[in-house]
Amino acid sequence: MGMTRVLVVGAGAAGSAAATVLAQAAGELEVVVVSAEDRLPYNRTTVNKGLLSGAVDDASIALPGMDLPGVTWRLGERVVHLDPVDRSVRLAGGEQLTADAIVLAVGASPRPVPGLGPAADRILTLRSAADTAQLRAALTPGAAVAIVGAGLIGTETAGVLRQAGHRVVLLDTAAAPMAPLVGPTVAKWILQAHRAAGVDVRVGTTLQTLSEQADQSLSLALSDETQVAAEVVLAALGAAPDTGWLTGIGVLDDAAAGAVNVDDQHRVTGWPGLYAAGDSAAFPGPDGARVRIEHWGAALAQGRKAAHAVLADLGLREPDNAVPPELPSYSTYVHGTKLTILGWPQLATGEVPLLGTPEDERFAVALHDADGRLVAAVGVGGARAVNRITDLLQRRAPVTELASDAAAGR
Ligand SMILES: Cc1cc2nc3c(=O)[nH]c(=O)nc-3n(C[C@H](O)[C@H](O)[C@H](O)COP(=O)(O)OP(=O)(O)OC[C@H]3O[C@@H](n4cnc5c(N)ncnc54)[C@H](O)[C@@H]3O)c2cc1C
Repeated sequence: MGMTRVLVVGAGAAGSAAATVLAQAAGELEVVVVSAEDRLPYNRTTVNKGLLSGAVDDASIALPGMDLPGVTWRLGERVVHLDPVDRSVRLAGGEQLTADAIVLAVGASPRPVPGLGPAADRILTLRSAADTAQLRAALTPGAAVAIVGAGLIGTETAGVLRQAGHRVVLLDTAAAPMAPLVGPTVAKWILQAHRAAGVDVRVGTTLQTLSEQADQSLSLALSDETQVAAEVVLAALGAAPDTGWLTGIGVLDDAAAGAVNVDDQHRVTGWPGLYAAGDSAAFPGPDGARVRIEHWGAALAQGRKAAHAVLADLGLREPDNAVPPELPSYSTYVHGTKLTILGWPQLATGEVPLLGTPEDERFAVALHDADGRLVAAVGVGGARAVNRITDLLQRRAPVTELASDAAAGR
């Protein structure tokens, strides 16, 4: 009988973390990681930040410790079909691979801008280091760049490009950047921070037509009947799970944007031997509905968790169920000021002040759901006020507990 084989599809954050844990059982199993990108795992969070600005170079973003015992990397190869019953996959070249367990860690792809006609192929996106190289090659000094979508990636990228001396127009249909992630008060603060830094923010508007001029520059016609001229257009409309190839076999959750349905240990629901982690996995969230998190740290943690479940199910290790419930957290910089988001802002329907006001150097808000339970907190200029209510967020405590928390001087 051959050696037990575990297949990991995708060598991003979740796939690399899964492979690292699985390698602890080298000698007892063989691990094959198949990934569409033709390079070993690297830090994707740099793609629109240090790698784009040039603060870090391509060689330095490689993840350390990937020379893993018992792990074979099949890079630059795409999996195109999964048979969940036989636990086998087919690669784009036609090769079939069978395994005792399969970890799906395929991440997500940038959403396209819909219906723009022939010039649409001039729109760039940022997901990989190769995308960064393409964007950097397109940027001339002081280039005019239009970013479509003022979410997290759009906001971060606008800051980096502005800092590098580019003229940046940032468009969004919403009234302020990142509002679904940070609530209205911080979103308004971000809008003002962008404008103070010289980013031309156009809110409440949509890109309707993109046309290429005779000199190769681009013209964007917006729904508010204004025009924007740009040399480079970048779409930052969020990312959807890279799971198109998994449709029709019963592993996807349509309610969670086509992510793979998993339980809290990242086992694919209803399919023994299949696991999923990272941006492409939807797990039971705090209110029972499936959620997915698009954070680097969460993808690493989920990859590890999935790998521990694999080792336990194969009888190679004791189950490792002592993982605390995940409270997503994300920190970023908006024109030099640190922003920290903790919890589940997507569940929020309202906000209350937590610290100071937007006029202060530091301020924070707490976000609550329709039942008045705390679901998230956002800090600007410091994370202490946010971290202080971690326990309340974890318990989804009533918003009224904030007052008693403050009164107790905690
Ligand atoms: C520009 C950018 C900036 C970010 N900045 C931050 C940040 O500052 N902080 C933070 O917490 N998070 C950040 N994130 C989010 C974070 O990078 C992701 O949440 C994380 O990378 C998800 O890990 P993953 O393993 O699920 O997917 P990925 O890292 O995307 O890896 C998936 C891998 O699977 C491969 N793949 C896909 N389909 C197939 C297939 N069919 N066959 C084989 N291989 C396949 C892909 O090529 C890719 O290599 C950022 C994301 C982006 C795009």
